[in-house]
Amino acid sequence: MAKQKRRTVQKSAIEDALLRAQGHVSAEELHLILRRHLPRISIGTVYRNLKSLVEEGRALKITDSHGRLLFETSAEKHHHLRCLHCKKVFNCQIDDGALLSIARGGAEASAFLVKDVSLTVEGFCEVCEQLLKEEVQ
Ligand SMILES: [Zn+2]
Ligand SMILES: [Zn+2]
Repeated sequence: MAKQKRRTVQKSAIEDALLRAQGHVSAEELHLILRRHLPRISIGTVYRNLKSLVEEGRALKITDSHGRLLFETSAEKHHHLRCLHCKKVFNCQIDDGALLSIARGGAEASAFLVKDVSLTVEGFCEVCEQLLKEEVQ
């Protein structure tokens, strides 16, 4: 296979795996998934393609509470809920209009022009909340 062709195949396989992962995955997790079909794909290739997908606006990167880099497809605009216990990141919908007006209020003093807001809410997910409650009892 020509080098260019192989690159395209790898990139679309990576984008496809990201789509099917339906959430937030690390490059390492994606690498494991991809190796089932592309046994010779390297972690470096996965990183490089993820970076280029982010640059093209086809993927988003976020960090979890360990500072670990996670990726997802840039579908609909959403915000994130981050569990302080299991470190999982969930998607959530919050009214952008309300958020933007809060952000604009806060940025006014700095004469900063607000174009977008992305929010990460921290707390405990349903499972962890239950676990922590049981621990206390
Ligand atoms: Zn949790
Ligand atoms: Zn997300």
